[in-house]
Amino acid sequence: MPVYDYRCQACGVRFQARHGFNDPAPACPACQQASVQRLIVTAPAIARGMLTLAGDSRGATKEQLRAKWAEETPRLRRKLVDKLGEDVVNRHAPTLNTTYE
Ligand SMILES: [Zn+2]
Repeated sequence: MPVYDYRCQACGVRFQARHGFNDPAPACPACQQASVQRLIVTAPAIARGMLTLAGDSRGATKEQLRAKWAEETPRLRRKLVDKLGEDVVNRHAPTLNTTYE
């Protein structure tokens, strides 16, 4: 299951939660408020993660990160759309529609 980053809108605490793609957001572990906001992961952060998995993120230039993003994102997006549908992907993975700046 994927790990998501959240920030509590009541007390400002940042935390991570592991849960399924379509599960509701968890309550804040510090104050139990349900008003938590999922932090959107940025394209550069994901591209760096892809390179880390490939074993070569150290010293990666911005051009390499951008190339990796352009190469991997359409493939990943297509896979998700096949599995979950266009609508779900647009709603839950808007980062995949962005370009690397
Ligand atoms: Zn809180």
